[in-house]
Amino acid sequence: MSENLRKPFVAGNWKMNGNLALVAEFNDKLSGIKSNADIVVCAPSLLLHGFKPNGFSIGTQDVSHCDNGAHTGELSVDLIKEAGCQFAIVGHSERRDNQGESSELVALKAKKCVSAGVVPIICVGEPLEVREANNVEAFVGEQLDALVSELSVEALSKTIIAYEPIWAIGTGKTASPEQAQEVHEFIRTYFAKVSVELAQGLRILYGGSVKPDNAETLFAQPDVDGGLIGGASLKAEDFISICQAAN
Ligand code: PEP
Repeated sequence: MSENLRKPFVAGNWKMNGNLALVAEFNDKLSGIKSNADIVVCAPSLLLHGFKPNGFSIGTQDVSHCDNGAHTGELSVDLIKEAGCQFAIVGHSERRDNQGESSELVALKAKKCVSAGVVPIICVGEPLEVREANNVEAFVGEQLDALVSELSVEALSKTIIAYEPIWAIGTGKTASPEQAQEVHEFIRTYFAKVSVELAQGLRILYGGSVKPDNAETLFAQPDVDGGLIGGASLKAEDFISICQAAN
């Protein structure tokens, strides 16, 4: 598979923000958006019913690894599909940290998504102390090991990876384009050891304080195929200009 087949991809992660007025604004301003990127808005699940996606798709910020059943408060892949979602973020660092999600659980969630035809956007990334200790590759490599243990090559080819250094999330401290490229290249090389074809086709997004003024240089890196956008995805104009930078 040629590198050109990696269509740029931009996903917004609203986290626990937004309301139906913001949904209406996005319906209006993103309607028929012209971009070469696949565009996804991952809003809080209770707002998803308000979207009328035209030129973009919607996704959730998490999903259960279980099927429908006695799991109070959880959302299954069947339920999120019913709500019109084709994508789900899994393993965001806030869930790994705040909800204690392990890499093994994240892998199960990703596998459940793929089995139901939902594309998981799987987040990996290191905290500051790991970067300062020069252990980024070992740390991210372990997060990837869990994926490779649980998902087949075919299943992995239906996923998207988001590299999000935790020290860059919501801090305004973006990784430099070189820092991002270095880890993205590591991730692609890691998957190439599993399957060269998989690695060549896999979309790897960068996330961490992406803004309209830094998106273009980050997305221009050879192994950066787009972005996962937090804060800047809450402003329609900023999000649109980031989507356009992914051309
Ligand atoms: C995120 O939460 O996934 C994220 C990248 O946030 P921000 O863009 O605000 O750093």
